[in-house]
Amino acid sequence: MKKYLWIVILIAIGFALVCNINSSSKESYVMVLEDSTKNSKSDEGGNMIEIKKSEEEWKKILSPEQYKVLRGKGTERPFTGKFYKNDETGIYVCAACGNELFSSETKYESGSGWPSYWEPISENSVKLVEDTSHGMIRTEVVCGRCGGHLGHVFDDGPQPTGKRYCINSISLDFKKDTTE
Ligand code: FE
Repeated sequence: MKKYLWIVILIAIGFALVCNINSSSKESYVMVLEDSTKNSKSDEGGNMIEIKKSEEEWKKILSPEQYKVLRGKGTERPFTGKFYKNDETGIYVCAACGNELFSSETKYESGSGWPSYWEPISENSVKLVEDTSHGMIRTEVVCGRCGGHLGHVFDDGPQPTGKRYCINSISLDFKKDTTE
């Protein structure tokens, strides 16, 4: 009986070791994905690779001001952001994960004090979420890859879409087009 017990214990230890090896190899796979996120946007099937980090990890990556807007759904004061007046040619990317979000081709002066665009750079670059905070029904715009809060979209934009993507500068970085 005692011998049988020892065999069971040994099998259990062996099983635990195998599981541990499996989970650590999964972790390194996830880390590779995260490390390459600045460059690759989608998997082989064309789906956006989503980034999931804990709030503690985001706090290490983002400045306190960025964290407040991107993770806490805050709003920067109008006319204070670094991009609302930027009219250079290039691509606006997510400040948190580098995902390409908007082209300067679709940026326009909305008078709102925030950078405004009439269309995202691609279908999957942003996600839209219903937002009922502050006693209003609005549509929140979040990064399609990391879920970071970008701003809101309204129906008072210019043609051809009629949309106004009203985005916080602090949620953005800018990649200037250097080919011109
Ligand atoms: Fe992002």
